[in-house]
Amino acid sequence: MSHAHLLLHARCQLAENPLWHRGAFYFVDILEGRVHRFDPFAKVTRVLQLHTSVGCLAPCANRPHHFLAGCGTGFHFLDLHTGALDPIADPEGGKRNMRFNDGKCDPQGRFLAGTMDEEETPGAGTLYRLDPDKRVTPLLRGVTISNGIAWPDGGAAMYYIDTPTHRIDAFDYDAATGGISNRRPAVEIPPEDGNPDGMTIDQEGNLWVALWGGGCVRCYDPRTGKLLDQVAVPATQVTSCCFGGEDYRTLFITTARRGLTPSDLADQPYAGGIFTCRPGAAGRPEPAFAG
Ligand code: CA
Repeated sequence: MSHAHLLLHARCQLAENPLWHRGAFYFVDILEGRVHRFDPFAKVTRVLQLHTSVGCLAPCANRPHHFLAGCGTGFHFLDLHTGALDPIADPEGGKRNMRFNDGKCDPQGRFLAGTMDEEETPGAGTLYRLDPDKRVTPLLRGVTISNGIAWPDGGAAMYYIDTPTHRIDAFDYDAATGGISNRRPAVEIPPEDGNPDGMTIDQEGNLWVALWGGGCVRCYDPRTGKLLDQVAVPATQVTSCCFGGEDYRTLFITTARRGLTPSDLADQPYAGGIFTCRPGAAGRPEPAFAG
């Protein structure tokens, strides 16, 4: 058991998508449409204000100073200098209340991201795959709150969270085509412990999952379903985590203020902030979009 400490008093409504990239730490505030970049050496934060919600980001292999972003109902290239969005595809265009939520690149550089309805209507969302040739494929329909995604080394499996299932599910992953099959439960999380949200994977193939409402990040072995470790966070709405720092041994944790009452906020004044700890595991750089 470790304890996370405050890195940034960011006061985000819904901080998400923590990403360590080229010596800087990035995260989004989804509904405010903001992309934050924190330089840990200069201790300076820069904020890009977009005109739409932003659920997820990934580096781009072939476009310096750009991220791939799931914004509103579409995929875009985001210019990190100007904040300009260059649309790629809009698979849920025209659907009110829908937006992209969590997303990540697979080891081959395809981008997977899921949608959800702001009202959390059961089954309204879809997990999509965006290939480097910009083709979009719906991979999994009928999801409610599409959240964490991770691939172990070799990429022959994929782990995925649809939050209301209270599970992390495993799929067989076809690294050649990006197809998924053979869904089965890998980890079950008791509802009273919190709701599984974003996650990352370490070099041993263990999953670090944020528990919304649970005030912690937990480490599970997805091959056995066993709980291995826990990081206590002084904020209940824990949304996601990633490994970063030069040695990829620092765990960066995002949190939210959303859903908290004034009395909750008095008890957890740093809710919506970014926390870190060094739990003894190591991650690796996130793959970049290959298109
Ligand atoms: Ca999330």
